[in-house]
Amino acid sequence: MENNNLAAPCGMYCGMCRQYLALKKGLLEEKGLKLGCQGCRIRNKNCVFIRRDCSKLRKKEIEYCYECEEMPCNNLKKIDKIYIDRYSLSFIKNLRRIEEIGVKSWLQEQKELYTCPECGGEICIHDGECYDCGLKINPNIG
Ligand SMILES: [Zn+2]
Repeated sequence: MENNNLAAPCGMYCGMCRQYLALKKGLLEEKGLKLGCQGCRIRNKNCVFIRRDCSKLRKKEIEYCYECEEMPCNNLKKIDKIYIDRYSLSFIKNLRRIEEIGVKSWLQEQKELYTCPECGGEICIHDGECYDCGLKINPNIG
């Protein structure tokens, strides 16, 4: 079985999330966070934004939103727009890419994308910086 713990149903890569990285790197207090997150799937929340409104995700009838004939539903469109506006990142685009190349290759791509060009550390999309050296960067821009 593929390890897809960091690939959320909505197309988010959990490895670039503030909650995930702060927990992993022991920065919860510094970042003003309480619990952090080990990834949507491990937490069994599926998607905090979509799951409560989606019976298919709730009942695990689908693993990713791209498997759904209604994609993109209004919930997905909502979160997609928020991330495009704030971070130049499209979950719908990510989902199409997962469908195209498979989750294993996609995770590899994402890992490389969010690796700091300066120090090889991990980049947080929400803060737009490398959590290891502090470099300000959004890999989706430029
Ligand atoms: Zn760095």
